[in-house]
Amino acid sequence: MPTFQHVTYLWDDTVADQLDPVERLRYRSNILGADQRITNTGGGNTSSKIYATDPLTGEEVDVLWVKGSGGDLRTSKKENFASLYMDKLLALQKIYDAAPVKGVKTEIEDQMVDMYPHTTYNLNPRASSIDTPLHGFIPARHVDHMHPISAIAIAASRDQEELTRKVYGEEVGWVGWQRPGFDLGLVMGEMARKNPNLKGLVMGQHGLINWADDDKACYDLTLSLIEKAAEYIAAHDRGAETFGGEKYPALDASARVGLLVRLLPTLRGMVSAKSRFIGTVHITDRVLQFVNSHDAPRLAELGTSCPDHFLRTKIKPLYVDWNPTAEDFDALLAKLDAGLAAYRADYAAYYAACKHVNSPAMRDPNPTVILIPGLGLIAWGKTKSESRVTAEFYSLAIEVMRASEAISQYQGLPRQEAFDIEYWLLEEAKLKRMPPDKEFARNVVVVIGAGSGIGKATAHRMAKEGAHVVCVDLQAEAARATADELTKIYGMGIGVAGTGISACGPAIGLGADITNRDSVRAMFEQVILAYGGMDNVIITAGIYVPPNREGRIPDPMWGTTFDVNVIGPYVVADEARRIWDAQGLSGTLVITTSVNGAVSKKGSLAYDASKAAANHLVRELAVELAPRVRVNGLAPATVVEGSSMFPRDRVIASLIKYGITFEETDSTDDLQIKLADFYAQRTLLKAPITLADQAEVAYLLTSSKFQKTTGHIFSVDGGLSEAFLR
Ligand SMILES: [Zn+2]
Repeated sequence: MPTFQHVTYLWDDTVADQLDPVERLRYRSNILGADQRITNTGGGNTSSKIYATDPLTGEEVDVLWVKGSGGDLRTSKKENFASLYMDKLLALQKIYDAAPVKGVKTEIEDQMVDMYPHTTYNLNPRASSIDTPLHGFIPARHVDHMHPISAIAIAASRDQEELTRKVYGEEVGWVGWQRPGFDLGLVMGEMARKNPNLKGLVMGQHGLINWADDDKACYDLTLSLIEKAAEYIAAHDRGAETFGGEKYPALDASARVGLLVRLLPTLRGMVSAKSRFIGTVHITDRVLQFVNSHDAPRLAELGTSCPDHFLRTKIKPLYVDWNPTAEDFDALLAKLDAGLAAYRADYAAYYAACKHVNSPAMRDPNPTVILIPGLGLIAWGKTKSESRVTAEFYSLAIEVMRASEAISQYQGLPRQEAFDIEYWLLEEAKLKRMPPDKEFARNVVVVIGAGSGIGKATAHRMAKEGAHVVCVDLQAEAARATADELTKIYGMGIGVAGTGISACGPAIGLGADITNRDSVRAMFEQVILAYGGMDNVIITAGIYVPPNREGRIPDPMWGTTFDVNVIGPYVVADEARRIWDAQGLSGTLVITTSVNGAVSKKGSLAYDASKAAANHLVRELAVELAPRVRVNGLAPATVVEGSSMFPRDRVIASLIKYGITFEETDSTDDLQIKLADFYAQRTLLKAPITLADQAEVAYLLTSSKFQKTTGHIFSVDGGLSEAFLR
């Protein structure tokens, strides 16, 4: 087995030899994608030309299997690969050649993409990517196109052609930057045919492509070419002088966290003026070395090079020249404010200068990457997954710049070329084909009480609408269990980045005691570090203390009841308000009260009084938090199903109280159904009240469907006339 210092060699014959040729391609792709130094998440593609039986004629045909549009090598399955008849694909050149105007970025080039489906083998529904002709026209059985840091470093250097020769000699050629498409496929195919000794090409400002007639040999070649470039770069490493040396010292970890907690909600508000963003904080020694360096402002301005990196990180990041040891927080905010205004103006100027008559309208002019000395890299995206990808890509771009500046001088993609990728009509069509954002896609929802019952059902309901859900419970373990359920259903997404809790997925679980302000604050700090801020809070946590044998609620239990049911929601609202105010974005708060707040009953004095107070707390908070935050109350009636307030003992006590017959051997579930049916008969609608009924209204009150309603209590009780509010 070859040995490598700069990439991880993962090929295992005992695995590969068990697989059919298509599965071997899937295997090769997965192990290539597993190393970020070989390619980025979602970046690069692989192919194998495989003989197969034609389902139409029964004859043997040559089929190109190539990673299709979308997807990611690391996680690709067989269904992520498109399959095309080789003869039909190659025959497309006739159509292309017949066009009166052809070449890169011509109309016919884009039209060729619509021809690929006509060459599909065996009704494979996977759409072909724009890189398909690169794989089709190169006359080798296996092709790997990667975005390796070391090769992009050569490809993004001023003297890239000369460097390619210096590093690779005659075995690898060089092709200047050209937007991928049919024409680039023809160019590469021609180069490979003219020089049969060529094993690959450095693609200017882009990456590496190489080939072999054996799949394992192709994998070995990919790794050895990347290794060779990495060795050359390592020999030229500039150590402490990298990026011109240190300009600002890094803050220590605790100062950094304190500053991030203070900064992120404000910053989120600043970048979310057009639409809300979810943040990822990425802080590594190598990121810090870059943001703290003398050269960071110059290099940041050049933007990224690989088009894959660039599509997420935008034309360039926003670098803020703030001295972390000499300047204060207000100075940072002022510089961010001015920096963002300049960035947006710059973006509008870039759009105006580069647009074509048929270009799509200008997109959000806010940066997706913000670099702050002492602090690190903060990335923004419409989902957690997207912001993690963005953070990953810029940190890879930093590595490209580190390497390129060590061996030469780094250069970004030319602005017009960058624009022609960002506003490519094919790219626009792809965006339009994507399903519309779910209602809560750009939102972070904090559900307090999410470990069980209504809170857990609500967490699921909100996640279904695309929300990032923070599950909070007094029992941290239960909160994490709910978050794990959500992550299992909705997936972690893609992107390998994020420091500490910021590396999270669409849901996190946290413990917090709402009767303790410090605990609530610490919880919100974790939310800020995880997502950059939050939008909506739903409180379902509550307590019911049953009377003792004498039918009394002991005095201390009155305190506990009011602490949890009234003061707790107030403390949560008061701490959440700091974030809402810092963000300057609208938000919502839903507090779960109870129909008992309106109905007086024997035996639940403290609970009922506390819920009446909670009802009024809803109204008070609606006044306090207006106009930014809507506050409404959800008043459930006896939800027996899955409720922590109805353990077996209480259910049995109630059944006895109401003279309902049951067997001691009945399961708790059956007993709960009996009691729920009894309660249902006391309502106008005669239907048992479920957790899903409550969760639905918690969701509706949080949603824009209720955007003009605040300060109200909504009973979800099946209709109890004595609970009607007036
Ligand atoms: Zn590429």
